[in-house]
Amino acid sequence: LVSRKKQPDNTVIDVNGTLIGGAAQVMIAGPCSVESYEQLRAVASALKDAGIKIMRGGAFKPRTSPYDFQGLGEEGLKMLKEVADEFGLSIISEIVHPGHIALAEKYIDIIQIGARNMQNFELLKAAGEASIPVLLKRGIAATLEEFIHAAEYIVVGGNSNVMLIERGIRTYEKWTRNTLDISAVPLLKQETHLPVLVDVSHSTGRKDILLPCAKAALAAGADGVMVEVHPEPQVALSDAAQQIDIPQFQTLWDGIKRSGLFT
Ligand code: PEP
Ligand code: MN
Repeated sequence: LVSRKKQPDNTVIDVNGTLIGGAAQVMIAGPCSVESYEQLRAVASALKDAGIKIMRGGAFKPRTSPYDFQGLGEEGLKMLKEVADEFGLSIISEIVHPGHIALAEKYIDIIQIGARNMQNFELLKAAGEASIPVLLKRGIAATLEEFIHAAEYIVVGGNSNVMLIERGIRTYEKWTRNTLDISAVPLLKQETHLPVLVDVSHSTGRKDILLPCAKAALAAGADGVMVEVHPEPQVALSDAAQQIDIPQFQTLWDGIKRSGLFT
C-alpha cells in the first residue's frame, strides 16, 4: 500500500492546515523531553515568532538506561496540549505502548513511533487504528526494506497518514552519534508515496553540523526537518549534548531559509 507503484501521487498529510508531503517543506522543533511549562512556553514562543507550526516534545521516553529520566507520561501530554493551544501550535509526541493511542488522540496531533519501537508490531497495529497521523522513525539498525514494511503495518491497519523519518543508523563511526543516511531520502521517496523527513539531532548527536545536514536533507528531497531545541540544553533531562538553545535555533532557521532549499 505504501509503494509508489500502487499510488504514484504523494501522500499529503494535513495537520491543522499545515501540509506535510506537498510542495512546501516543514520544520518540526522542540525539546527532547517535556520537563516543565516554563520550558515548553519558552520554546513555543520562539517557534511561533519564527512562523513554525509544529512542536515536538517527548512525554513517554524510551531511554537506554532504566535509571535515566523516563518522561512525565500523561502529565507531559497535558502540558503539551495546554501550551500548544496557548501558542496555536500542533504537537508531535512519542508513545510507546498500544494502550496509549487513546491518550495521544486526546492530547496531541501526531503520534511519533520511536526508533526503538519501529518493529514493535503490536504498537504499529494499534497506530493503524489511530485517527491521527503517525511519524515513524527508522530503527537504529533497520534496513530501508524493514522500515517500509513497518510503515505498511500502520497503513494496512487503516491509517494512511504515515510519514517516515530518517534519524541515523548505527555504524562504526564515533564522531557522530549515528550515521545520517542521506541516500535513504531519495530511496524512500522513490519507493513510497509517503512524506520523508530527516531528524538532524538524533542522526548526528551534535550541535555544530546541523545546518549542512539539514541542507543536505532538503537538497536530497526531504519534506521536512526535525531538530531538538531546549531553552537550557546544559540542564536538559535527556539528550543534553545534542539539543540547541533558542538563539542557536534561530541561527539554524535563518540559515535554512537563506539556503533557498526550504520553500
Ligand atoms: C526522540 O525523538 O527524542 C527519540 C527518542 O528519538 P529516536 O527514537 O530516533 O531515538
Ligand atoms: Mn531526543
